[in-house]
Amino acid sequence: SIAYVNGAFLPLGEARVSILDRGFQFADGVYEVIPVYGGRPFRLDAHLRRLERSLNEIRMSPPMDREALGERIRELITRNGGSDCQQVYLQVTRGEAPRNHPFPREVHPTVVMTCSPVPPVPAEWVQDGVSVITAEDIRWARCDIKSIALLPNVMMRQKAADAGAYEALWVHEGAVQEGAASNVFAVYGGQAVTPPDGPRVLPGITRDVVLELAEERGLPVSTGSIAASDLARAEEIWLTSSTKEVLPVTRLDGEPVGDGRPGPLFRSVLDAYRARIGELRAR
Ligand code: PMP
Repeated sequence: SIAYVNGAFLPLGEARVSILDRGFQFADGVYEVIPVYGGRPFRLDAHLRRLERSLNEIRMSPPMDREALGERIRELITRNGGSDCQQVYLQVTRGEAPRNHPFPREVHPTVVMTCSPVPPVPAEWVQDGVSVITAEDIRWARCDIKSIALLPNVMMRQKAADAGAYEALWVHEGAVQEGAASNVFAVYGGQAVTPPDGPRVLPGITRDVVLELAEERGLPVSTGSIAASDLARAEEIWLTSSTKEVLPVTRLDGEPVGDGRPGPLFRSVLDAYRARIGELRAR
């Protein structure tokens, strides 16, 4: 595949950054993953706005304006064949400098993009649901920044995999925050809630699409906190993320969720989501 590194498009195997890059040395950078359907990036502007917000929070300026970055992303997709079920990974780090913690004076951001296929979500995951575990939130208190420092997430996804589960849900001070790589929704009395924005929640683009679709269709979905002690009695639990869309959770720490089957509200939300994707493909 073709990658992008600081203005150049080149074969992935030839793409290089310095070992002195602050992304490599300090995880001093932020990223986005943008889903592509029918060659078209989905919610590009929202992803680029979130990137700008992340950069701003770590006191970096955007490497270029949204329009220019959008153009590079579209070119990357085209150069990679522009087909369906792809994702663009976009990373911006503070750049290359001698290793020293404070911000370097003279430094240019490193902008890297790759394009890769997204394996289709297995039909069983949607039909039967996935399993999750819960875990104490060992991350930092700025999870609203889409930082490339993902070691806690890596550790917890592996712990989930070791337990035969798909995802781990973070619990902080008794409240469920989000998954290691997804946002979470829980249904009580037929009403779905997802934790509001906060320091331990990434403002997920897919979460926002679900909230927006629910509003349009009059589905009972809103923001609200989820007590960890209430999670086991949820009627439904869902996960959202750009590449997995909306997934039903049917096992929580080894126990069935609700009746152990994906629920009716999940179905309505997934149908709405897929319809929205269908519109994008048809455009
Ligand atoms: N939370 C975390 C920690 C994530 O890594 C992700 C996936 N990038 C999400 C939530 C979901 O965000 P989005 O819907 O924007 O992909």
